[in-house]
Amino acid sequence: DAISEFTVGLACLLAAGLRTMDEIWKANRELEASQQALRNLVDADPLTGLYNQRKFRGFMGDVSGLSGALIFLDVDKFKSVNDNWGHAAGDLSLRQVADAMRSIFRADDGLFRMGGDEFLAVAFGLSLEDAKERITRLRESLVVPDENGIPIHISAGISEFGGDSPIDETLAMADAAMYADKSLRRRDSSSST
Ligand code: GH3
Ligand code: MG
Repeated sequence: DAISEFTVGLACLLAAGLRTMDEIWKANRELEASQQALRNLVDADPLTGLYNQRKFRGFMGDVSGLSGALIFLDVDKFKSVNDNWGHAAGDLSLRQVADAMRSIFRADDGLFRMGGDEFLAVAFGLSLEDAKERITRLRESLVVPDENGIPIHISAGISEFGGDSPIDETLAMADAAMYADKSLRRRDSSSST
């Protein structure tokens, strides 16, 4: 009769409505996931999977209020790795620096490839002493020849963040400390040869 026809019609309409809601909900989730994937792609260095330099400022903005150590790293004589072993071997060495950083720093520390053979760790709650100890461990793991047979040496500089200094100044201090370390290492290696 008319009433049961009306009830069936209403039930069909309701089911269709629910299906549509479910589809919209699913499409929304997919959109969110692809937006996140896109954001990750924009923030990442494609060679190493670390954050890129572009991400640095935003990252530091998000963690303002926290303190710790900025550790600036640069591979020593990296040009000669490329020249002697080839660009692909150089790429592998850069990936190994990134892997060593991932294994030595904590998962929520910020790890960046700032460009070329320059890397940066933003290590939360780390004192200068602890930062030095991490650098020693990093060096020990990288100086062992990698699968190409290339030992990797790095220069490092530390500065503390979380005080009143603007982040650009803190970064410049870590960079300057890294260059001072590099000069010392150059002097040491030339006096030992
Ligand atoms: P220093 O001891 O002073 O650091 O000398 P260096 O030879 O390491 O000099 P520098 O840091 O200026 O050289 C960086 C080199 O890194 C130059 C460039 O050819 C190389 N490079 C930059 N990006 C890449 C990359 O993505 N892959 C490879 N294989 N090499 C790269
Ligand atoms: Mg270098």
